[in-house]
Amino acid sequence: MNKCQFCGKDRNNIKHRLAYIKFDISDSGKPINIKEFWECTVTGERYEGKLCEKASEEAKTDYHRRHKLFVSDSAINTFNLKDAKHYKDRGICYYELKKYKQAIADLNEVISLNSKDSDSHYLCGKSYECLGKNDLAIRNFMAAARLGHREAKDYLNKKGIKW
Ligand SMILES: [Zn+2]
Repeated sequence: MNKCQFCGKDRNNIKHRLAYIKFDISDSGKPINIKEFWECTVTGERYEGKLCEKASEEAKTDYHRRHKLFVSDSAINTFNLKDAKHYKDRGICYYELKKYKQAIADLNEVISLNSKDSDSHYLCGKSYECLGKNDLAIRNFMAAARLGHREAKDYLNKKGIKW
């Protein structure tokens, strides 16, 4: 068992979470010297190191998603950068976090700024599908397909829907 030095319990449980990741950026822009800092929520202490490989990967995926959400949300709301890129980034994060209504709102914002963004039409369709609104999903898949989006075309062809 991988014991926590602070609370004495198994570190591989929900009382121990990834607090942040620190890294340097290489000249080519890649993250290097990555260090994970975990928090024992029982005592509030933080330590550098890993849990098991799997927990570490899961926590990191979520961390990066939330970090990206934070960055795009700050760009829109704090720095007032209301451009398609930030709405798209935030919309994708919401979609990945299964917050479909927020995802749709952001993706529609992207579409109103750039009606030819096929990815946003497609992801908007996927979000409506997850909410059980199939008519709206199909309408967005059709728009994506007409703009050349491959997955949207495949999806509609498989269902026998003309676009
Ligand atoms: Zn602990």
